[in-house]
Amino acid sequence: MKIGFIGLGIMGKPMAKNLLKAGHEVVCFDVVAANVADVVASGAVAAKSSADVASQVPVVITMLPNSPHVKSVVLGKDGVLEGASEGLILIDMSSIAPLASQEVEKACSEKGVRMLDAPVSGGEPKAIDGSLAIMVGGEKALFEEMKDILLVMGASAVHCGPIGAGNTTKLANQVIVALNIAAVAEAFTLVRKAGVDPHLVFDAIKGGLAGSTVMNAKAPMMMDGNFKPGFKIDLHIKDLANAMDTAHSVGSPLPLTASVREMMETLHADGFGGDDHSALARFYAKVSGTTIGE
Ligand code: NAD
Repeated sequence: MKIGFIGLGIMGKPMAKNLLKAGHEVVCFDVVAANVADVVASGAVAAKSSADVASQVPVVITMLPNSPHVKSVVLGKDGVLEGASEGLILIDMSSIAPLASQEVEKACSEKGVRMLDAPVSGGEPKAIDGSLAIMVGGEKALFEEMKDILLVMGASAVHCGPIGAGNTTKLANQVIVALNIAAVAEAFTLVRKAGVDPHLVFDAIKGGLAGSTVMNAKAPMMMDGNFKPGFKIDLHIKDLANAMDTAHSVGSPLPLTASVREMMETLHADGFGGDDHSALARFYAKVSGTTIGE
């Protein structure tokens, strides 16, 4: 199939390349020319704008930072709806506020464009090997229609409910990931400060109840002092802000999330917003005077 892809950053680039590898044609756009050139070098065709992408394909995928970007790319000048014909399908795979997904879908449906929200979990490594976990909101029938395309990029795609439900699921995912990283950073700082080798602690506990995908991915980064993203602190702040807005609107307090968000805000203020979220270890280094790594 001919598929449009808008937003070719850390995640979008490998996802678009996996569509190409699976034999799909890809028409792509990003505001950063170097990102477009990279995907074009793998066989995609460059478009002039988001509208230009939408005018050439039956399905458009977006993978953008946050709600304002998705609104501008879909609803704005030279946006998807400007180029869309009736019957176009939009799959927004960005992590955005569920309410924003609902707003964008409403505008799409007025133009005869059908939409799914389909954010992902797994980060760059799983985007590269096509094994993302995909959580989907929208019409069940549309989900079934698009499932094969989603499974080119992911190992699983679960229909979670109506439009916005994919992003509500993603917010739960981001709360769990953030708190888990903070727990690992807190505990590994403790052992380091108490004079026990964090590498041995990792080996001793990773197979027990404290073990997790998050610990396996992030503890080695903390022990190496390697905070190259990955998933940037600033993007996680965005997700936790969306989680808190959504939670408060339904009367569900998030006390632990609020604490970790403030730790991330501290890192942002210190100039580390572009670091991987495993840099929560830097927060603990600041308050304890001890780094987890050598
Ligand atoms: P990124 O910042 O690397 O990529 C975003 C891309 O969107 C950039 O290439 C940027 O130039 C492009 N863009 C921005 N505005 C645009 C516009 N108006 N028109 C066209 N292109 C535009 O971000 P990322 O890490 O790839 O994340 C993308 C989304 O996926 C985010 O919502 C993020 O929360 C989510 N996500 C990221 C990860 C991760 O580990 N990086 C994991 C899961 C989900």
